[in-house]
Amino acid sequence: MSTLTTYVYAFAEGGREMADLLGGKGAGLAEMTRLGLPVPPGFTVTTEACRIYLATGQEPLGLAAEEARALAVLEQAMSRTLGAPDDPLLVSVRSGARFSMPGMMETILDIGLNDRSVTGLAKASGQERFAWDSYRRLVQMFGRTVMGVDGDLFEQAIAARKAQRGTRDDHDLDAGELALLAEEFKAIIRRETGEDFPQDPAEQLRRAVRAVFDSWNGERARVYRRRERIPEDLGTAVNVQAMVFGNLGPDSGTGVAFTRDPATGARGVYGDYLPDAQGEDVVSGVRDAVPLDQLKVLDPRAYVELGDHLRTLECHYRDLCDVEFTIERGRLWILQTRVGKRTAEAAFRIAHDLRAEETITADEALARVDGTELARLMFPRFDTTPADMPLAHGVAASPGAAVGVAVFDSAEARRRAAEGQYTVLVRRETTPDDLPGMIAAQAVLTSRGGKTSHAAVVARGMGKVCVCGAESLTVDPVARRFTTDTGVVVREGDTVSVDGTAGTVHLGALPLTASDVGRALETGESTGPLTEAVLATLAHADSVRRLQVRANADTPEDAARARALGAQGIGLCRTEHMFLGERRKLVEAMILARDDTAREQSLAALLPLQRADFTGILEAMDGLPVTIRLIDPPLHEFLPDRTELAVRLASSAHPDVHDRELLAAVERLHEQNPMLGLRGVRLGLAVPGLMAMQVRAIAEAVAHRLDVGGRPHAEIMIPLVGTVEELRLARTEAERVLAEVTARTGRGLDLPIGTMIELPRAALTAGSIAEAADFFSFGTNDLTQTTWGLSRDDAEASFFPLYLEKGIFSVSPFETIDHEGVGRLVELAVEAGHAVKPSLQTGVCGEHGGDPESIHFFHRAGLDYVSCSPFRIPAARLEAGRAAV
Ligand code: ADP
Ligand code: MG
Ligand code: MG
Repeated sequence: MSTLTTYVYAFAEGGREMADLLGGKGAGLAEMTRLGLPVPPGFTVTTEACRIYLATGQEPLGLAAEEARALAVLEQAMSRTLGAPDDPLLVSVRSGARFSMPGMMETILDIGLNDRSVTGLAKASGQERFAWDSYRRLVQMFGRTVMGVDGDLFEQAIAARKAQRGTRDDHDLDAGELALLAEEFKAIIRRETGEDFPQDPAEQLRRAVRAVFDSWNGERARVYRRRERIPEDLGTAVNVQAMVFGNLGPDSGTGVAFTRDPATGARGVYGDYLPDAQGEDVVSGVRDAVPLDQLKVLDPRAYVELGDHLRTLECHYRDLCDVEFTIERGRLWILQTRVGKRTAEAAFRIAHDLRAEETITADEALARVDGTELARLMFPRFDTTPADMPLAHGVAASPGAAVGVAVFDSAEARRRAAEGQYTVLVRRETTPDDLPGMIAAQAVLTSRGGKTSHAAVVARGMGKVCVCGAESLTVDPVARRFTTDTGVVVREGDTVSVDGTAGTVHLGALPLTASDVGRALETGESTGPLTEAVLATLAHADSVRRLQVRANADTPEDAARARALGAQGIGLCRTEHMFLGERRKLVEAMILARDDTAREQSLAALLPLQRADFTGILEAMDGLPVTIRLIDPPLHEFLPDRTELAVRLASSAHPDVHDRELLAAVERLHEQNPMLGLRGVRLGLAVPGLMAMQVRAIAEAVAHRLDVGGRPHAEIMIPLVGTVEELRLARTEAERVLAEVTARTGRGLDLPIGTMIELPRAALTAGSIAEAADFFSFGTNDLTQTTWGLSRDDAEASFFPLYLEKGIFSVSPFETIDHEGVGRLVELAVEAGHAVKPSLQTGVCGEHGGDPESIHFFHRAGLDYVSCSPFRIPAARLEAGRAAV
């Protein structure tokens, strides 16, 4: 081929390093060709050509000529001519973007057939039925995807033909009937579009390529990209490939194979095989495939050869690979490969095994898993007894436990999800049109199809629970119900439990219990290959990470739990939670106090309670740092609701004096914007004695722990500081109390005193603030609110959905740290703080501390630790490790 090639590459010219240009499928086909695997020859039209076409509405200059040249080379290699009347070359036209989007875009098979070449194909293959079946498939696919005809019209014509014949199986239609079908299809196309099905093979090819380009902007492809966060502007490549035929009789067939089990990660070749069929039949789940093992019996030679190729691929890609293959009259062809999608469980096991086999390093194994997957494995599972009889068994296609109400179509799943209901989408089989419903539902249940059916592949990719091929169920989407083989009827709205790990579905809501992984993480003991893989991977993460991981915890119980899960201290201990319940009355009394004596009395009553809280937490975290934040929220949060009080007073014959005082206090403390009001350090400075009481409780708890031989490491954290003056005043007050307790107890109590950085002004003046601070803790929740000028509680419910849809955010800035804005402030503050005080300790205690992507950012920003809720600690440890390799 000419060296001037720009938009077209023969498979033999490409390779895996060219995936941006050739798409994942094209790069895989090229790489396999390079490895000498049996790949039907062909060429790839680049994603760049697609981008130009989508931007301008026109194919780039020179593309047609390049395609023609590549086709000529292909024809020569195959010694046949596209669509020639006798023995025609046929090709497939296949989409293939940079990132795999299974089933999201179009593929058209058997291009090159027309009224004349169909008889040539019949003669050359010696199979008339096959030739006409291929032709009707082409007219059908072309009509639907290229010419935009409603696919149901073709399906109805097939159903009518079968009814006339008195059969339900496509296979019973003979050559004559298929020829009639092809005619009917052409008539449908003419009727629907006013145009004839194109007989010219070159025109077929040209239009098919365009249709694949256009499919990039199809509705379901867009939905999928948004969900998978695949950029909108990549475009797709198009692969044109010589057809091979799996539907030439019992010595032919097609299948999908994995180098390991993509559901569990277990070693050993795994897959589905469908004799006498075309590739599309497997993926669509239209016919039920047999386990790949059976190929050993059906065609031992092809089976061995396939095994060899799978090994070659796994060695080469050093990871789980999957392939689509076709056997044409005993000859094996590989039609696609990629590094396969897998469940969270399989991800951990495969990475661990490949490391044990020395195929990859421990660092690589760590990079192959992520915190989101680990969190998924920690989800609870069903606590079933043998008495819990399932409604049905199916294929355990994607593991996990889900409870929801049964729904029977995508629209209903979305409608109920919008109302906050959990749903289980029940279908006979799914198609790409079901995608929105699959996203909305908690689980997917189908009555047909195997582990490689659409439902299984897509659910696995999304980490959604899925049981497929539950064949004993009769699903009736029109009546909105399914029936079991014992006659149980489950209607729309009935609650079911789907166990994607066991492959069962149960009536009602089953109880949940901790997962094996969750338990192993708390006890440190492995109970099988999965927990062993998780613990080993996490141990490696711990050995390489620089970021420490602390917990946000306010009680001794949470602290102990967090510690068991690997927390290296507490990064945020909120004290206001300790003022709820019974103690509310004491806080009320403090707020209502008329004079210093009354206030001091109520504070004195709070002191021993707070001291006991801190003692318990310091004990649970003995030897590790515990950062205690002084009271933060506005005081009115501790008082009753204003309207409620006013109503109570108005409707009572003898208004309560206390209520009246309360209402006055509520009104006095009322603020238009409490989030920006009297809270944090402002409160500590405004309410005499409050801060001193809290510091005294901390100091006395520390002294007590020292007395009993403990190793307490309390740190005092002042919230919402905007200027160093505030911090200086607070610090002076705290140091005064510490000195006083030191004098009284004889215990040296110089506790670190630091501040939260959660206002832009604090970040911008971090250099001066650092002079009065021993540490910074970034409160990225408030920092995000104040930097963006938006309220999390209001904005997330009101306009965030719109912003996400319009692409203004790709993810909520409260979920993943906004690198350029809020993140920039963090970087500035760390830098300025360290310039003034190199020993300054820095950490983050907002929700972002447990978010995988944000953790990588904090690692790069040079923080010392992240702090997150106890449940997220293992995932945070893992991500901190991944950030370091
Ligand atoms: P998807 O990306 O949705 O998997 P593919 O491009 O892989 O779409 O094509 C769909 C099916 O068509 C595949 O299962 C494949 O086996 C079959 N197919 C594609 N090209 C050929 C070919 N040249 N010969 C035989 N079958 C093919
Ligand atoms: Mg495919
Ligand atoms: Mg805050």
